[in-house]
Amino acid sequence: MRRRRNSPRELDPSSIRALVTGASRGIGAAVAEALAAAGHPVILNYRASDEAAAEVARRVEAAGGSCTLSKFDVADAEAASAAIAGLLEDERPIGVIVNNAGIARDAPFPALTREDWQAVLRTTLDGFFNVTQPLVMPMTRLRWGRIINLSSVSGVIGNRGQVAYAAAKAGIIGATRSLARELAKRDITVNAVAPGLIETDMIKDVPLEHALPLIPARRLGTAQEVASLVAYLASPAAGYITGQVLGINGGMA
Ligand code: NDP
Repeated sequence: MRRRRNSPRELDPSSIRALVTGASRGIGAAVAEALAAAGHPVILNYRASDEAAAEVARRVEAAGGSCTLSKFDVADAEAASAAIAGLLEDERPIGVIVNNAGIARDAPFPALTREDWQAVLRTTLDGFFNVTQPLVMPMTRLRWGRIINLSSVSGVIGNRGQVAYAAAKAGIIGATRSLARELAKRDITVNAVAPGLIETDMIKDVPLEHALPLIPARRLGTAQEVASLVAYLASPAAGYITGQVLGINGGMA
């Protein structure tokens, strides 16, 4: 049997586009900036916040990076399919996908509505499928790729009031581990990042006096801290890490 080379393949990041979903704000915006700083032309997806997305694009470009806006709802199969077909017309491959778009609709389980259950699962799980599935075959032809999925500490250990969110975020871990096994021999890694409480709009209603005592580090994380981990996983240096769930949570789990 022919032995595979042991050294990671070096590719010029400026020739590999990176798609970040849900990148108009919060963690996704920080990830887009970090991947642009690493040299990738970035495709910034978002659903509604036009002005915020344009501001992220301005920051990326002011720092010398390249950024394209791609507005679509990741949960909408037809919209995602049409948008991704358009993105594939550019001949530069999409080698990095960060499935970051996510929503939380927290409620004690007896009060959880079917609409909220479905919205949360569709955004995280259908969103992962709608965006990733059409990009995988082109990625296998590139024989290099990085897929990074945003899970959550709630998907790892569960959380009161987050049955839907934790189900979605645990589901994405199963998808990550399985797809990692399918793609490893093509030099495509698939990992999940599971943040704890990160200071973004998503947690603006979380009462900090109750949350902080649960965090050994006694502080919230920053979007930039999560982005640094994602950028590392997207880098050539992380080529031997796949199928993993990396916690970034100040010691919560
Ligand atoms: P924010 O609520 O701050 O931002 C969410 C982003 O996702 C926005 O850019 C929003 O765009 C976009 N988005 C939401 N729904 C869709 C959709 N259907 N299609 C496309 N884009 C969409 O979230 P965070 O930055 O805090 O979270 C980012 C990810 O990290 C999420 O997956 C979240 O679950 C996860 N996470 C966050 C934690 C935290 O403490 N903040 C902890 C653990 C995990 P727009 O404004 O245009 O709607």
